[in-house]
Amino acid sequence: MPISSGLNSEIIRVGIVLPEDKIQEITISWPTELELESNVPEIKTTQSVTLQIGDDGIVIKNSPHIASLTPITFECPDKVESLSTKYGFHIDSVVAGRGFHWEKRIAVDLPGKLDVSKQDGFLKVINSVDVEAYVACVATSEMGSEAPSDLLAAQTVVARCWSLALAEAKHLTDGYDVCNDDCCQRYQGTTYLTDHSLNAAIETRGEVLVYDNEVIDARYSKNCGGMVEAYDTVWEGDKVPYLIPLWDAPDQKPGFAVDDFESHYAYDKAYCSSKRFENVNLAGMLGKVDVSGSYSRWEQTMTKTDILKNLKKYTGLIWLSIDDIRIMERGPSARIKYLFLVGTDENGNTAEQMVKSEYGIRQMFSDSFLYSSAFVIKNAETVADDDHVVLKGVGWGHGVGLCQMGALGMALDNIGYQNILKHYYPGTRLTSLS
Ligand SMILES: [Zn+2]
Ligand SMILES: [Zn+2]
Repeated sequence: MPISSGLNSEIIRVGIVLPEDKIQEITISWPTELELESNVPEIKTTQSVTLQIGDDGIVIKNSPHIASLTPITFECPDKVESLSTKYGFHIDSVVAGRGFHWEKRIAVDLPGKLDVSKQDGFLKVINSVDVEAYVACVATSEMGSEAPSDLLAAQTVVARCWSLALAEAKHLTDGYDVCNDDCCQRYQGTTYLTDHSLNAAIETRGEVLVYDNEVIDARYSKNCGGMVEAYDTVWEGDKVPYLIPLWDAPDQKPGFAVDDFESHYAYDKAYCSSKRFENVNLAGMLGKVDVSGSYSRWEQTMTKTDILKNLKKYTGLIWLSIDDIRIMERGPSARIKYLFLVGTDENGNTAEQMVKSEYGIRQMFSDSFLYSSAFVIKNAETVADDDHVVLKGVGWGHGVGLCQMGALGMALDNIGYQNILKHYYPGTRLTSLS
């Protein structure tokens, strides 16, 4: 029986510059040796063009006679063998961290095809790229240059499965499959591509995990905290048979982390415990991580004033005080599914507001984005009188599927990528699409 997947193509379309970025001018440049094709022949004799929004579509700066109502295209080879660091079309200012307080502009180098068009008065750039090339680039963005090869191989297979399953399909109505940001998978083209990650893509080419002859929806996050979370704790919908709670450790002990948070907080046998990384260059292996190690076990204080600000920002409610926080339901890893804020509204009446979903909770209890929703309120007894809440928590991210730090812990224990994948996605089978 053939293996099915959500993406019915060997090409994936990545949104790079989006209308919501409100960009009206970009410069695209490339080296002389690049094999370039374009639907505007004049471009082929240069190494750089600046594209602007014109009255009728896109215009080329300094050559205003060249205007196009239809997308302007740029194309270069994108088979994984043609890639190298900074290969492709260079764009200086692409948005990263879209919508978050750390949003910034970064430079990217993109292989494959670029379509530059006008939408709602702003530029839109879509990069259509060979899935294998895309996966190599994503694995690079997720990992550091010193990542052990089994960790890179595991991350590469997982990124490939996520891309092919396309289960979230957040952007299909916008005319592309995925965006370039953490909303989907972080993709910065070949800018930081290493030989190491390129080799991982070539050596695992076409390898995917399947369940019932379908490419699996391979979720992953930075650090589960010691127990991998169930899919249905974090997202709406039915249970997913291979995204289930399990101890991120050599042995599966009975019970769940949620049953006794304090003993879970003290648990340090997990593959992702910071104990394992005391003498390891984490930043070198996992890319940009908080090297203080505080994501495995953390504490964070937030003033009630700041929670009230977030309440207004995300719900529009204006309250005078927060008097209680009632945690209603947790998943197996102790991640909170929903809670109630109890407070006093502008008219002096008692009010309640449900904060729903792991994502919503992480937004509400942080100025940036809380590490995870697996926390207890340390000052729960006195929270009515205190002007702040102290959160004591575990893990970084939603905790479902592969735990990147746990996979690093396993790779450092010389566990091969096939067994790493088997651990995080039980009941699945590793196979090759070719
Ligand atoms: Zn997205
Ligand atoms: Zn873990």
